[in-house]
Amino acid sequence: MKNLVIFGAPGSGKGTQSDLLVQKYGFDHISTGDVLRAEIKAGTELGNTAKQYIDNGQLIPDALMIDILAATYDALPKTQGVIFDGFPRTIPQADALKAMLAERGTAVHAMLELSVPDEMLMERLINRGKTSGRADDNEETIAKRLSVYHAQTAPLVEWYAQEGIHNPVQGYGSLEDINANLCVVIDAL
Ligand code: AMP
Repeated sequence: MKNLVIFGAPGSGKGTQSDLLVQKYGFDHISTGDVLRAEIKAGTELGNTAKQYIDNGQLIPDALMIDILAATYDALPKTQGVIFDGFPRTIPQADALKAMLAERGTAVHAMLELSVPDEMLMERLINRGKTSGRADDNEETIAKRLSVYHAQTAPLVEWYAQEGIHNPVQGYGSLEDINANLCVVIDAL
C-alpha cells in the first residue's frame, strides 16, 4: 500500500500522470476537482456551492473539502494504494490528510511535485480550454488560479519537505520521461 500525493500547479499534468500511474500500479485515484465537477454535473447542492468557487478560480473552503475527501477515500477499495490529485491545496488540508490517514493506520508515503514554469502552465491551460469544456480554463480564471496556487498551495512544498517526503520531478518534456521519473521515486519507496 502506497499513498501518494501528486502535487503541482493547475496545468502541471497531475491528472495525465495520475492516469498513467493508475494503469501501471493499479492505484485508486482521487481527483478532488473531478469529484466536484461530477457533483456540479449531477446538480447537487454541493455541486451548486462548489461551482461558485470553481468558476471564480477560488478554493472550496477547507472544512467542506476535508469532509468530501474523507468520504471519497472511505468509499475506495484501496488495495494497491491511493493517489491524491488536487488535494491537499492548503496547509490545513495537509494537516487533515495526515490526521485522517493516521486514524486509519496509514500515511502519505511520498509527495511528487511536478514543477513547471508559469508561462508554460498558462499556455497549456489556454490550449486545454479549447477542448476541455471547463468553465475555469479561460485566461482570466487561469490567472486567478495560478495566483491562488502561489499564495495558498505552494507553501505545501516546504510542509512536505519538513515531513521528509517531498520529491520534485520536472513536469515538462515528454509524457514518457516525466512518467519514468515519477516511477523511479515510486519504485524506491
Ligand atoms: P482541479 O481539477 O484540481 O484543477 O480543480 C478545479 C477546481 O476545483 C479548483 O480550482 C478549486 O476551485 C476546486 N478544488 C479542487 N480541489 C480542491 C481542494 N483540494 N481544495 C479546494 N478547492 C479545490
